[in-house]
Amino acid sequence: MPHIHQLSPSVVNKIAAGEVIERPASVLKELLENSVDAGATRIDVTLEKGGSDVIRVADNGYGIAAEELTLAVASHATSKIRSADDLFSVTTLGFRGEALASIAEVSRVALRSRTAEAVSGAELEVVGGAASPVVPIGCPVGTTIEVRNLFFNTPVRHKFMRSPQTEMGHSIEAMTRLALAHPHVHFTLAHNGRMVHDLSPVLSMRGRIAAFFGDELADDLIEIHSTNEGVTLSGFVANPMHSRATGRMQYLFLNGRAIRDRALQHALGEAYRGLLLTGRQPICFLRLEMPAESVDVNVHPTKQEVRFQDSGRLYSLLLGTLRTKFLTTDLQARGATSGAIGASHHDVDGASSGTSELVNWAKEQLGRQAAEQSATTFGPARLDAGVTPFRPHEPLRLHQLDESARRPFDIGRGGEGDLGDRDRGRGRGRPGSLDGGLQNALQVHDRYLVVETDAGIEVIDQHALHERILYEQIREKVLAGALESQKLLVPEPVDLTATEAAAALEHADVLAQLGVEVQPFGGETVLVSSYPAMLANLSPAEVLRELVEKLLAGGRQPEARDLIDELLHMIACKAAVKFGDRLSPEEVDALLSQRHLAQDQHHCPHGRPTALVFTREDLDRQFKRI
Ligand code: ADP
Ligand code: MG
Repeated sequence: MPHIHQLSPSVVNKIAAGEVIERPASVLKELLENSVDAGATRIDVTLEKGGSDVIRVADNGYGIAAEELTLAVASHATSKIRSADDLFSVTTLGFRGEALASIAEVSRVALRSRTAEAVSGAELEVVGGAASPVVPIGCPVGTTIEVRNLFFNTPVRHKFMRSPQTEMGHSIEAMTRLALAHPHVHFTLAHNGRMVHDLSPVLSMRGRIAAFFGDELADDLIEIHSTNEGVTLSGFVANPMHSRATGRMQYLFLNGRAIRDRALQHALGEAYRGLLLTGRQPICFLRLEMPAESVDVNVHPTKQEVRFQDSGRLYSLLLGTLRTKFLTTDLQARGATSGAIGASHHDVDGASSGTSELVNWAKEQLGRQAAEQSATTFGPARLDAGVTPFRPHEPLRLHQLDESARRPFDIGRGGEGDLGDRDRGRGRGRPGSLDGGLQNALQVHDRYLVVETDAGIEVIDQHALHERILYEQIREKVLAGALESQKLLVPEPVDLTATEAAAALEHADVLAQLGVEVQPFGGETVLVSSYPAMLANLSPAEVLRELVEKLLAGGRQPEARDLIDELLHMIACKAAVKFGDRLSPEEVDALLSQRHLAQDQHHCPHGRPTALVFTREDLDRQFKRI
């Protein structure tokens, strides 16, 4: 039987450190929070190797008195709360008194500080939790903390650190959150001796959003402001033409603290319902300000989750504010950007919007179809869950089937001619095989192909089948190293977030196998010099963003093989005809003629069935013939 013993303070601290300090970015987050809490108006961050080697944070806050320096790195020592009651009125970012102790336990820390009253500063060094005596030193008012060799004495943690690029991505993310939440503070960030960000103080978060995510997004933000019983909701949400595959760009700040909250995320999703394609996530930068008593911040070691006293009210406040805003905002998309669909205000909520507008819209659509014009405006994203968005700028990709499948109707890429072709092919209800084709097939509801077979009938999901065929084709090509990629005449710079840029560059070799060549271009910009020819209908930026989101979605370090498989699915899905694309009879034939290529014909790469079979016997039985 093992005996019970008290753990040494050092082990206790290492355990505590394990909860809070996961990687360099967690150190940076804690140090930045301390500087903000100290009332700093300027915070300078210096990182080496993404923070794995050096993290230095210098602020001009109120400093730490020489005689309290040792206490600052002791565990459970804080100037921010005194009693347990204070836990319910926390107005600072920190209060646990654990961060510095945890950091000092697993790295080499030099802490220099001076208060306004002191004639000189003082310095303290701590190596792996062992502090040396405090010595006087000359320094300006404020605090500088330098953390070197993170995890040097915890080899297991050290092993988990990723490439400097990845760690840098996480570090920038940590800084982004703080800098967005505190726009009045001047932040600078230097990495490996190079200035990455110099963010002057601004009144509004919008300037910071532009600095981190580019003007394109910042220009399409919708400002939000509302108050309800002491709670203020303010900030920005993005026009639905901007969206992401994950919720990573949903920033939510509660009293200056970046938090995650499932309920509020859900409210956000609800507000955007019908404005985004399925699977796309809105982008937001929202601030909630409320009295400290109405929220418990002491529920999570890194304080990323909080408990609201009245979360239902916040849910309604967020949903209500956004809905009202969207109804009074013209959300017209500007041009054919990204997979996101812009829509005008009457699309927000089909049920509550005026029917007359719906009718007008429908008339417009009918008129356009009759005139066989190629559509250049966007229809509503989704009038109800059952209708797939209208995507006029998406030409068909049946030409990307193998050479053998090419038909006289072969459709070129891009441009409006395609749409003309597609319109000419319109002939709902006409059976296929006009040119002595293969099967008696019928497209129904722009999404299913009904085929007569010897045994009975099959109902095929057109998108799933095409996706499956393309997936097999691309996979073979990738395995043979023969995927056609298209070299760009002028490489395209793509602005990503720091995390995304890091992931793209770290996985450059995997991307290269898929025909996407990327190079660093300074900052968070990545240069795309080639991309798969079959995705010619998407812009290089869209292709890269999609791929990178897949790279990041897994979280842990994925196996190259799994990653390629994931990305193949994505490419196949993007390149395939959509559920909802009308196909000409010839196109139906072309698609069906390739069925044999899909090794596992009955399932799309997502595992959904591609076809349902109804035998003649089934039918006869249903009709009580037998
Ligand atoms: P907490 O922030 O939860 O109080 P920390 O371990 O992060 O705990 O910091 C311990 C204490 O050290 C803080 O309460 C604060 O008094 C002091 N401190 C840390 N960083 C700074 C700083 N940059 N400027 C002034 N004081 C600081
Ligand atoms: Mg702290």
